[in-house]
Amino acid sequence: MERIESDLVLQLKSCFFDIIATQSGPNILKTASSEMVKAVRKIIKAEELTLFCSNAWKQQFYHEITISENEPSISSLSKVIPFEELESVSNLHNIHKQPFPLEGFSEYDYIVLLKHDESILGFLLITEKEQLEAHILKELSKECGNFLFKLEGLSKNIMEEKRYKLLFRVTEKFHSTMDMDEVLGEIIKTLQEVYPGFSYYLLLSQDNHSHSELPIKDLEYDSGNIAAMQAYLTGNIQFEDSVLERRSILYAPLKGKQGVYGVLQVVSPNTLVFPKNEVEFISLLADTAGTALENAQLYQQSKRLISDLQLINETSHRLNSNLRLNETINYMCKQIIHSFGASEVGFFMIQGNESNPEVLSGSTMFFQTDEAIPYIEYLMEKIRKENDSLFIGDLALPNNNIEREKYRSVLAVPMIQSQTLKGLAVVIHSDPYFFSFDTFKLIQSLIHHSTLAFTNSILREELEKMIITDHLTKLHSRNYLDERIQRSMLEDEQGTFILIDIDDFKAINDSFGHQIGDEVLIQVANVIKANIRGSDTGARWGGEELAIYLPRVTLQSGFAIAERLVEKVAENSSPHITISCGVSYWNRDRVDSFKFLFKRADEALYFAKNSGKNKVISQGNPINIF
Ligand code: GH3
Ligand code: MG
Ligand code: MG
Repeated sequence: MERIESDLVLQLKSCFFDIIATQSGPNILKTASSEMVKAVRKIIKAEELTLFCSNAWKQQFYHEITISENEPSISSLSKVIPFEELESVSNLHNIHKQPFPLEGFSEYDYIVLLKHDESILGFLLITEKEQLEAHILKELSKECGNFLFKLEGLSKNIMEEKRYKLLFRVTEKFHSTMDMDEVLGEIIKTLQEVYPGFSYYLLLSQDNHSHSELPIKDLEYDSGNIAAMQAYLTGNIQFEDSVLERRSILYAPLKGKQGVYGVLQVVSPNTLVFPKNEVEFISLLADTAGTALENAQLYQQSKRLISDLQLINETSHRLNSNLRLNETINYMCKQIIHSFGASEVGFFMIQGNESNPEVLSGSTMFFQTDEAIPYIEYLMEKIRKENDSLFIGDLALPNNNIEREKYRSVLAVPMIQSQTLKGLAVVIHSDPYFFSFDTFKLIQSLIHHSTLAFTNSILREELEKMIITDHLTKLHSRNYLDERIQRSMLEDEQGTFILIDIDDFKAINDSFGHQIGDEVLIQVANVIKANIRGSDTGARWGGEELAIYLPRVTLQSGFAIAERLVEKVAENSSPHITISCGVSYWNRDRVDSFKFLFKRADEALYFAKNSGKNKVISQGNPINIF
């Protein structure tokens, strides 16, 4: 008897060894267990042998293979048997003979359970002509159970290897990209490869991207999806099993070091539970993804911070670089449009005691039109009342009868200096809710930083107007000359204007340097000062152009003075230079203006230059009178 047993064990083991030696690949469980059934049937000379294996996902046994001597009998047994059905027989023995306390098994002679550590891996159904000894069946149960366990282990290892390769690929990808969409896409792709039958969703807490192809849902606090919320808040995996719908849902938090970034929802149809090792794999993937999302988010954040800082840095640089006010405003408008995608940007200043602010030149076009008035009036009033910046997502102007405002997103920041409201900056966009709160904060800080520069600029420009002397030549400033002429045109009967330009001055600068150039300019200025009277005004018109206004003086006298200047400069200058003059004249008999007076002198000067230089030409008389 013992010999038969040990023979049987030997035969089984040798067959199993052969099977292991010849089978491989991801389907090893299926192919090797079929080989096992074939071998066993031969060894025990059974008429027919059937193997059912367990499926932990579905909590049921499924028909794996039937091997028959002849044609397989048509079984009345269902192809799947839930775990519970076998519970009544499984606890007691591994071997069962007819009659079974189970329905549907009547055509079989024996049921042999294949176990490992009390968990049933499957069972064999045997149809046999001769009776089989109990101890043979016992050996069969033990050896086949062990073999099936080994096969499961092998198959798991192969699967595991594949998964970890995938996980490795995913991790590699995560480390090589800082793009949120790519990270999310990779998670979904990997899951689809491992579990093709499932559906996946990404529930994200802050999603302001438009990931076109990704299955993304918003994670809403009031959605009633308690398990998803639980996973998000606790950072632990949650399950939601529905026996009725025969499906199971897993929620894995996408967890980084500093927080949870969303939840991965895995819906497995036709399943009752997620086996432990699958849960481990999914949570490992979710954790890796969480860290990758965190990195990507931190990267985006730091990139944004850097560009914010660059913007502030560049702007304050510009503000400190003594640009003209309208250039500064223009620069700020361009920066705000470029950095934040604004449609229009306007700056307004309250002048003196006026209640309505004045639009500063350099603001964008819309604010120069009447259409902007209701906006500015409304915003100004609100800012006066609330004494704070305004962040409006969907503007509704009062007394507005047209269907919708043209601009619906509005940021308005007051410009305050020494506790007084000096003006406001307004940034608008036609879409509602266009600007983020971060943008609002940044613009607020930009405006706060620039208010001082703006008011200084305004003061400086006012001051410039008040300055009446040019510091290099000690002649009067152009502003002063302008005012002097305008006054004279109101008060006097006539007057003469002389515009003076040094000939070939560039060449002087080039040969002797700018400093000598400046000295020459001073020499010419001194000649002017020495040749005019106290009631006349000599001025630096700009650059190396000088001008003289002679109130109440006739064209002839003016012309003579200009000629004297041309002579004196040619005689006395060192290095030697010459000048050209254009002379214009006005009197009460003609409708005239300061602008035309200048234009006529300029034209005359142009003729002087074009006809040989070192001469005087008077208005309307382009003839060389030398
Ligand atoms: P033209 O006879 O046609 O007037 O020849 P130009 O070389 O004088 O030509 P233009 O009037 O166009 O050139 C003016 C030059 O004068 C250019 C500029 O470098 C120089 N310039 C202007 N303002 C100053 C200044 O304040 N100091 C010095 N050193 N050079 C000046
Ligand atoms: Mg010139
Ligand atoms: Mg010149």
